[in-house]
Amino acid sequence: MNTRVSTDVNVQRWVALAFRESLKGRHKSQRVGAVLLKGGNVIEKAFNISRPYGEANCSLHAEERLLKRKTFIGCTLVVVRSNKQGKLVTMSRPCEHKCYELVVRAKIRKIIYINWEGEIVIEKVKLLN
Ligand SMILES: [Zn+2]
Repeated sequence: MNTRVSTDVNVQRWVALAFRESLKGRHKSQRVGAVLLKGGNVIEKAFNISRPYGEANCSLHAEERLLKRKTFIGCTLVVVRSNKQGKLVTMSRPCEHKCYELVVRAKIRKIIYINWEGEIVIEKVKLLN
């Protein structure tokens, strides 16, 4: 498996930053914040916003907003989810068929997210062939 649980203090700091970003999310129930790191420095942040044209339950994902234009070779992406009460929500791994594919194409090296158990997980991203 390419994942491991982390209790590193720096990682906790980045997760807290992504959590604060998630609180700005504009979807009515699911709020996601994403932070992009290069060499331990924050280079981009984003939260999710509702899609235009009223697609019922669909938001423009935070990761989509960060990654749609560029590649980020060797960077780390931190993704955290909160609910409308402003509480951390478990399982914030980028969604499989949209954001994870963007992560792979952007050449991100690692993703950090919260698993179903509420632990911080670091996952190595698969390499493009
Ligand atoms: Zn997504």
